[in-house]
Amino acid sequence: MVMMPITSVNPATGRPIRSYEPHDAATIEARLAGAVTAQSEFRTTRLEERTAILHRAADELESRAPELARLMTLEMGKPIGAAESEARKCAWVCRWYADNAGRLLADEEVDTNARHSFVRFEPLGIVLAVMPWNFPFWQVFRFAAPALAAGNAGLLKHASNVPGCALAIEQVLQSAGTPDGVFQTLLIGSDRVEPLIRDPRVRAVTLTGSDFAGRSVARAAGDSLKKTVLELGGSDPFVVLEDANLADAVSTAIIARTMNNGQSCIAAKRFLVADAVAEEFEQRFSAGMADLSIGDPLDPTTDIGPLATESIRDELAAQVDATVAAGGRLLLGGQPIPGPGYFYPPTVVADPPAGSPLRVEETFGPAAAVLRFSSVEQAIELANETEFGLGAAVWTRNPGTAEPFITGIETGSVFVNGMVASDPRLPFGGTKNSGYGRELAGYGLREFLNIKTVWIGD
Ligand code: NAP
Repeated sequence: MVMMPITSVNPATGRPIRSYEPHDAATIEARLAGAVTAQSEFRTTRLEERTAILHRAADELESRAPELARLMTLEMGKPIGAAESEARKCAWVCRWYADNAGRLLADEEVDTNARHSFVRFEPLGIVLAVMPWNFPFWQVFRFAAPALAAGNAGLLKHASNVPGCALAIEQVLQSAGTPDGVFQTLLIGSDRVEPLIRDPRVRAVTLTGSDFAGRSVARAAGDSLKKTVLELGGSDPFVVLEDANLADAVSTAIIARTMNNGQSCIAAKRFLVADAVAEEFEQRFSAGMADLSIGDPLDPTTDIGPLATESIRDELAAQVDATVAAGGRLLLGGQPIPGPGYFYPPTVVADPPAGSPLRVEETFGPAAAVLRFSSVEQAIELANETEFGLGAAVWTRNPGTAEPFITGIETGSVFVNGMVASDPRLPFGGTKNSGYGRELAGYGLREFLNIKTVWIGD
């Protein structure tokens, strides 16, 4: 079989950066076999050795943050400042698990009729991680830090447009002292994921990506009875009630829609605004979106860089076109920016009709839908209208008013007077077609553990 090289392309210029030979079958087999040997030793290392690796990885991520940030920006186009913050956030998650793994992995005593009964947490073995390009370091480290803390081995199949990041992550963890074979990158296309899932040596798979990829991974994993965590897409609602602090809501709404060039699963995508403040919100929000600077993501003054690939840019343009053709009111943007890079301007469409793409699909880019509501019930109904259930934000000055939204919105998280964000201390994940399982905090660590019951009689 002839394998196409894996080529990274700079989305700001459309020019190739570098091509990599994909790993052949013999290399994959050697890495898999190496992972088995390495994990069988790693699982018995002292916790202190594993957490020391994570502390060293954190130091490395911080000291190399500018260089790693440049790599991320070149390969997928995020603004350079955000890329540097991402490298530092990876250091945070490494340190958080290093500092908390002892507590989270300690035996849990349970009072039963046994002389002694307790729960022990053991690693599952080799975990395959299929990861997306949009947070090319963060998505990997939020899997890798808890997996390694617990004594698992990781095999990374990263998105095909960020091979340089994939190799750099492997190298950071190797320099931090991860034993050979415990964390390895596989340079392979998505067509070579299924046999790996079916391989009995792989014990679990975690995928962050589209619901299409999630279904495919879940099918193979279901068929071979493998544990899965799926972190899929989102179309998060951002609800602005009549009594909200409008200035704060608008300024946060702009960041929540456009961070990472609008390519975040937890970006606010649908802005649901109370009738009484809707007109003012539309004006202020559109004006703020219009003020953002678009351009070279390596320039620290740029707010919005290119979309990661040409097809993502074209798909967003098609979604906006179809929504406007269906009757949505275009308040801002709406035309791709010509040029060699894959730029799309901040775009606002008000009143997208029922069933139109901006109302029901995930949009990956700086295009916002604004809808009006006249009652709490209608707002919750609109919030739950899509097939996704990742996050939601609610803005109100009265915490009591937020309560029906906290219980009524079907998502993995609700943020009141703030934007949805990931944090190592808080579980992260979705419901409905946004996936299942959790990452981060103690919940993320436990996904890839064998929770062993021990019962000792007299
Ligand atoms: P994607 O196309 O689904 O790709 C994600 C990963 O899955 C890549 O490594 C990709 O490999 C692989 N893949 C694609 N199709 C596959 C298949 N049929 N079988 C096995 N692997 C497959 O998603 P993306 O465009 O990279 O990322 C954007 C999506 O990720 C959005 O929907 C976003 O909302 C979601 N996301 C979710 C979260 C969360 O935590 N919930 C976080 C970030 C992003 P190739 O690149 O080789 O195709």
